[in-house]
Amino acid sequence: MLPASAATWIVRAQPARLVNGGPVLFVVKPPAKVESVTGTWLGHQLTFSYDASTKTWFALAGVSIETNPGKYVLELSAQRAATKALSTVTHTFAVARAHYPQIKVELTVEKKFTEPTPEQQEQIAEGVKIKQDYLSRVTPAREWDGNFTTPADATISDVFGSQRIFNGKAQSPHQGLDFRVPTGTPVAAMNSGTVLLARFLYYEGGFVVIDHGQGFLTLYLHLSEFKVKEGDAVKRGQIVGLSGGTGRATGPHLHVAVRWQGTYLDPAWLMQLPLP
Ligand SMILES: [Zn+2]
Repeated sequence: MLPASAATWIVRAQPARLVNGGPVLFVVKPPAKVESVTGTWLGHQLTFSYDASTKTWFALAGVSIETNPGKYVLELSAQRAATKALSTVTHTFAVARAHYPQIKVELTVEKKFTEPTPEQQEQIAEGVKIKQDYLSRVTPAREWDGNFTTPADATISDVFGSQRIFNGKAQSPHQGLDFRVPTGTPVAAMNSGTVLLARFLYYEGGFVVIDHGQGFLTLYLHLSEFKVKEGDAVKRGQIVGLSGGTGRATGPHLHVAVRWQGTYLDPAWLMQLPLP
């Protein structure tokens, strides 16, 4: 028998089948009227938003690509509006293995990317530091609103999770989605948020990062031009820059990535997920 308090929570996930590298929307309904809901999932803190139309609380989260198949516990805690008493519950979700294409992408890039000079190594180190500083930031408040949409109306030239080989050397799996676009194509924000970064980095080239809150960032690489600056508030669909082939790119294309609290998720899945 479940304790009465636990029995009255409603906890569900969208999509119902969780996989490594995929996003997940947790939707919960606590047993009584509460003023806040927080959670812990795979070692990450979750802050839930209230949806008045359905009287439910929701948080967008994910499962890192490195997560092994198995059962994982979502811990939830809600504070009652009237008594300030805490109500807690745990719910177990199964994570299945995603099948990412085992396409080997052989690419030739300039030597300055595979064998950088000491001066170039300095620029690389600077880029690493900037990314460490900015990309791990978590803004608990939600700025995203509704579905994430495509940044470019174009063909996808490489998917998330594919194995890549640069000049014969295996790299980590592809951490984003590539769009086949010529230089100068407008690139749209995938959701509403605040521009966290808009600057040139060694590997990323023209690099825009948008913070959507709840630990979600979207990244736009190899841009030829910026249309926003750091600190700007952007709406979904707003043009943030023009595509290009700057940084470590084999030609003009748009690489977009989705980061949730320090881990990369599949942008294609995120765009398919219906969100409140
Ligand atoms: Zn890419």
